[in-house]
Amino acid sequence: MLRRYKLAIMGTTGTKLAKKKPTTTGSKKTARPDIRKGTNSPRGDLAPERIAAILKGLDEAYPDVECALHHRSPWELLVATILSAQCTDVRVNIVTPELFRRFPTPAAMAKAKLPEIEELIRTAGFFHNKAKSIQGAGRRISEDFGGKVPETLAELITVPGAARKTANVVLGVCFGKAEGVVVDTHVFRITHRLDLAKGDTPQKVEQELMQLIPQERWINFSHQIIHHGRQVCIARKPKCDQCILETVCHSEDKTWHS
Ligand code: SF4
Repeated sequence: MLRRYKLAIMGTTGTKLAKKKPTTTGSKKTARPDIRKGTNSPRGDLAPERIAAILKGLDEAYPDVECALHHRSPWELLVATILSAQCTDVRVNIVTPELFRRFPTPAAMAKAKLPEIEELIRTAGFFHNKAKSIQGAGRRISEDFGGKVPETLAELITVPGAARKTANVVLGVCFGKAEGVVVDTHVFRITHRLDLAKGDTPQKVEQELMQLIPQERWINFSHQIIHHGRQVCIARKPKCDQCILETVCHSEDKTWHS
């Protein structure tokens, strides 16, 4: 039985992510019905029935997704998401309380000295670049947006450190706006395993998912998949015997078949 987990947002590891090669070790494969057959859909794996089954399974497994990055405002979530690139949410949550105590607003962050920011975020990794990004974000938001995090994707992606993934996280969690789909390393990996996407960059995968998933599901879908990727469909050895999507998954990475 799957437990309910809190949403964990994890950073992407780059603009181009490689699809993992299939593994065969330990697989126990037996014949089973293929739901792709009999759907009469020219799109095979993308048949509406199969997409609906995946969304239903995710809802059952992860009905109450929440953002695991601690924040009290859109500004704090923006900073936390920038810091989460190639860093765990747990580590980010350790770093941010003191950072926000010292520099609580975009204006305060804009005026902070870079070495001070770097020291506070050192353990989150890539601290030189991340310090420049969050200082630049503070400057842009305080000078050009009246100190408030903008609420559109077009504006948010002009903020230093905020590419589409970060912008989509902030828009979805803080403003309930689905202008795009968050594609992090988990969403990238699992949507390939589920044959929902074929693109070789997060940007291409996002476009595919926006075509495939109903817009009202974009926010929760990413959150649920990220959850699934951290707890069940892990990169090296997915726990397929515990997976609620096992019967609709045809990945060669599977380690177990019913
Ligand atoms: S069956 Fe295995 S590979 Fe497929 S989604 Fe579930 S955990 Fe991932």
